[in-house]
Amino acid sequence: MQRDEVVTIQFPNGSSTQINTGLFVSNKFISSESGKSFEVFNPTNGKVICRVAEASAKDVDNAVQAARDAFEQSWGLHVNGFERARLLNKLADLMEKEGDTLAMLEALDNGKTLAMAKAADVPKSIQCLRYYAGWADKIHGKTIEVNDDTNLVYTRHEPIGVCAQIIPWNFPLLMLAWKIGPALATGNTIVMKTAEQTPLSALKVCELIVQAGFPPGVFNIVMGFGPTTGAALSSHMGVDKIAFTGSTAVGRHILKSASESNLKKTQLQQITLELGGKSPNIIFDDADIAQAIKWSNFGIYFNHGQCCAAGSRIFVQESIYPKFIEEFSKISSQMSVGDPFHETTFQGPQISQLQFDRIMNHIEIGKKDAKLLYGGNRKGEEGYFIEQTVFTDVPEDSRIMKEEIFGPVVVINTFKDEDEVIRRANSTEYGLAAGIFTRDLSRAHRVARRLQAGTVWINHYNDYAMNVPFGGYKQSGIGRELGKYALANYTSIKSVNINLVLCLSEGHKWFKSD
Ligand code: NAD
Repeated sequence: MQRDEVVTIQFPNGSSTQINTGLFVSNKFISSESGKSFEVFNPTNGKVICRVAEASAKDVDNAVQAARDAFEQSWGLHVNGFERARLLNKLADLMEKEGDTLAMLEALDNGKTLAMAKAADVPKSIQCLRYYAGWADKIHGKTIEVNDDTNLVYTRHEPIGVCAQIIPWNFPLLMLAWKIGPALATGNTIVMKTAEQTPLSALKVCELIVQAGFPPGVFNIVMGFGPTTGAALSSHMGVDKIAFTGSTAVGRHILKSASESNLKKTQLQQITLELGGKSPNIIFDDADIAQAIKWSNFGIYFNHGQCCAAGSRIFVQESIYPKFIEEFSKISSQMSVGDPFHETTFQGPQISQLQFDRIMNHIEIGKKDAKLLYGGNRKGEEGYFIEQTVFTDVPEDSRIMKEEIFGPVVVINTFKDEDEVIRRANSTEYGLAAGIFTRDLSRAHRVARRLQAGTVWINHYNDYAMNVPFGGYKQSGIGRELGKYALANYTSIKSVNINLVLCLSEGHKWFKSD
């Protein structure tokens, strides 16, 4: 059934855009098979922006079939790397043209500031696609010499097939780009489930996919909720690979259900998980304190604390602790929390009522367990705004020390020496990122080596590049995104082994008499 439910989205700054709110399958927007739809909210005021189609298990079936048909008939091994590069670059160009609209859509349903969406989310997403376009015609295997002159072996790096990609709400466009860049560059097809809170920018990208000229079925989107649409997709027998970003709890569930439903997927390469974190940020007493304070602030409060790598556990060496917390709180009080469309706002609302309640619950726990140094309150009467919040003197076993809060809440404790802080920094089930601030180069590298984290920033924090791998140790995930490393997540290696000795009985050494 063809659905053409175009809605006009009105932005607070007076401009508007039109988007189609259907599921996107085979380059067409369609209704869900049940006709069901769900509401998308503006977190600034809790009001409904629009409704979008909700995919059932049957809709997921159809999207997976479309991706399978495209893989076998018009993409996969049928389109060479030069053409894949051209299409990805075209999509990046179109996204650049629509950059302002994409940024406004991000600010509207996510609540991130328009300034940050324009400075980071949109340009980094475009850069990510261009980066992987650059790889598309450079994906090839090796020749391997074996058995002197008797064999020629070469390897092929082939696309895996139909990829299920499930993304979160904290960076809707950027997570889409991180996922589709390597998958399309290597020749896979995709069924993506966007987060139920933030489908709008992805729907705009679907229009651009058609304009760019991707064959139908290469990229498909099903919107819906985790336990229904997400579960139907991640356990689907027609899916060859799953890439998930979100909470560790759901990641664990997906790993279990995928391996139970489809044995092919028990190969770890075919499940990549980008999960949560509770990352340590260590400030030594020889650091440039002013810079350490600014970066640490950005380390926790960037994207309203809704960042898997957030530096949410700060450890400060004893002698500089009083100065650090005084200045840190001062800066926190200067960063404005409010309307994401206002150009001086640093922090907009949290994503939803549910996340707001979870964060406020953690703040209440913190008030009982630790010392509240700054913030701790709701901001305003409507929407999901929370003050930047600082706790000190936090017991190691407090829930605010151990659990990912995913909001603008930081704990700051002291430490005496290097060994102690490394032990405490590593004392977590997570291992996504870490920060070190020091002027001592030897110490910086020594500590970086001993920290159990997929990324270690030295003298900065939350600084990402599309050619640098990102991912987690321990329960923060499986596999790496970005950089050359992500290509391995989307390719299967085939060895082609050629016998160069034509006649087995006469020419092969096994048959030679002494
Ligand atoms: P979540 O893990 O529940 O959702 C992430 C994505 O997974 C969404 O698209 C969701 O619909 C989908 N999903 C949920 N349940 C599923 C299931 N059973 N099967 C398949 N897909 C499913 O995250 P959330 O509830 O939106 O946020 C809660 C917590 O997740 C946060 O507090 C934070 O700790 C974490 N989180 C982490 C990241 C990250 O970037 N690592 C991003 C968002 C949320």
